[in-house]
Amino acid sequence: MTEATVREAIVRFGRSMFERGLTFGSSGNISARLDDGWLMTPTNVALDRLDPGRLSRLDAEGRLISGDAPTKESFLHIAMYRERAAARAVVHLHSTYSVAVSCLADVDAEDVLPPVTAYYVMRVGALPLIPYHPPGDLDLAEAVRKLAGRHHAVLLANHGPVVAGDSLEAAVSAIEELEETAKLFLLLRQEKTRWLTPEQVAEVRRRFPLR
Ligand SMILES: [Zn+2]
Repeated sequence: MTEATVREAIVRFGRSMFERGLTFGSSGNISARLDDGWLMTPTNVALDRLDPGRLSRLDAEGRLISGDAPTKESFLHIAMYRERAAARAVVHLHSTYSVAVSCLADVDAEDVLPPVTAYYVMRVGALPLIPYHPPGDLDLAEAVRKLAGRHHAVLLANHGPVVAGDSLEAAVSAIEELEETAKLFLLLRQEKTRWLTPEQVAEVRRRFPLR
């Protein structure tokens, strides 16, 4: 993929997620790894209004070399990439159902959502909860970094999910799966349910190992 293609893909996925209500206002951000740095969505811009020529271009040290100033949450993305050599893209959203789940008391902080479907197990797997940090607190980057080696998806408490993928498409489809699973979980939480059993989860993991 050329840099121009990656720029177009970020704009396309941004608009698609915005138009489907996965993000709103100027929340949410997308990044992609290039051979010598990153492309990132700029600060204070809605994801349906991205301009491919104005995306933030960062060098390998994370310094802005062209385009508009990057999202103030760029440190979340960099923390993921530092621990995941194969990650090519990271998406972070304040999507409603995932944020709702991130506010629940008494969840399992090591794995917030139950295995509702095989697709969730395949695309997300375990989802650890990272304790609440105020906006801009760089300790949050450290908290993400600590888990990122073992998890490509994490949920920030009272905030939202951060998901890495080996392509932009993979990261987007995983965060969408997470959002839909959060919605299903909230729909089913008061019902008597059958989640997948540990044996069923193990079988899915054997057939479709997470990278
Ligand atoms: Zn955020």
